[in-house]
Amino acid sequence: MVHRCFIGLGANLEQPLITVQRAAEVLARHPALHNWRCSSLYQSKPMGPQDQPDYVNAVACFDTELQPLDLLDTLQSIEQQFGRLRGRRWGPRTLDLDLLFYANENINHERLTVPHPGILEREFVLIPLAELAPDLLLPTGQTAAVAAQQIPLNDLCKVV
Ligand code: ATP
Ligand code: MG
Ligand code: MG
Repeated sequence: MVHRCFIGLGANLEQPLITVQRAAEVLARHPALHNWRCSSLYQSKPMGPQDQPDYVNAVACFDTELQPLDLLDTLQSIEQQFGRLRGRRWGPRTLDLDLLFYANENINHERLTVPHPGILEREFVLIPLAELAPDLLLPTGQTAAVAAQQIPLNDLCKVV
């Protein structure tokens, strides 16, 4: 069975724009992910610690037959491939791949919470999400487009 998924991509070290573009290419070519679509790329302010560079973010969607934890393994192995080191929470990272939605499923596993709990507070998720899928229904019952119109932009800007 095929599941429609959304992920968030983020990077803020070395060359974040190139990192996000290359990670998107790797994901788009992945044999288990189909119908890949990616938003524009956006520059955003860091969450949490402010003594780190701005981020580049995007949201992508695809279809997959992978089960949720297998998909998480796939995303984490691509983070590793891009040299991700785990530091402090919300600290700088070469590449962050977060699973936002896995079809309409609610997952509460020690390794995986879906829908991702940060979606509604993060302009760097809601704005690209609304670009890709304006009619997508969020857990609040709002569409992505409506939620995106209501969130403060916090200097978010489109770069590519
Ligand atoms: P945030 O999830 O608030 O954006 P983060 O992306 O910086 O924070 P990470 O260090 O990338 O957090 O991930 C920490 C752990 O979160 C991972 O080891 C993973 O098991 C877990 N996790 C739980 N839910 C998810 C999800 N929806 N997508 C990705 N990882 C998740
Ligand atoms: Mg994250
Ligand atoms: Mg993460």
